[in-house]
Amino acid sequence: PPDVEELGRATWTFLHSTAAYYSERPTPFQRANMLNLLNALPVLYPCSTCAWHLGENMKDHPPDVSGRVALTRWLCERHNDVNERLGKPKFDCSIRNLDERWKDGPAD
Ligand code: FAD
Repeated sequence: PPDVEELGRATWTFLHSTAAYYSERPTPFQRANMLNLLNALPVLYPCSTCAWHLGENMKDHPPDVSGRVALTRWLCERHNDVNERLGKPKFDCSIRNLDERWKDGPAD
């Protein structure tokens, strides 16, 4: 089976980076594809308990693909729900903090 921690770090990197560079004003085509990407995770993610928990979580919190700021926050909150379940610290989901971590790097 896959290394759940290695897989998790790689997947979060991909998802937070993709959200950080998502359009502020996505086209209907971009929105539909982002929704497909996120909705595929509970079906295909190769850690079945992770996938199941995410699917349950997404029933209560459907993805907000309306724009970059909303999407980055939605994803940060879903990641924080996993952090909480695993006893890991919560991340500050302000756009400033998210962009510093996943887009711009620290200000000099
Ligand atoms: P990670 O949680 O992988 O985080 C990587 C980096 O992201 C951190 O160093 C930090 O800089 C940043 N970060 C942390 N929190 C946030 C946030 N809220 N928003 C933005 N950036 C943040 N593991 C299990 O054991 N059980 C599960 O049920 C489970 N479910 C998962 C579901 C999904 C969809 C994914 C992608 C992963 C899941 N994992 C699960 C793996 C788990 O979330 C971690 O990836 C893994 O435990 C490694 O943790 P880590 O401490 O290295 O940092």
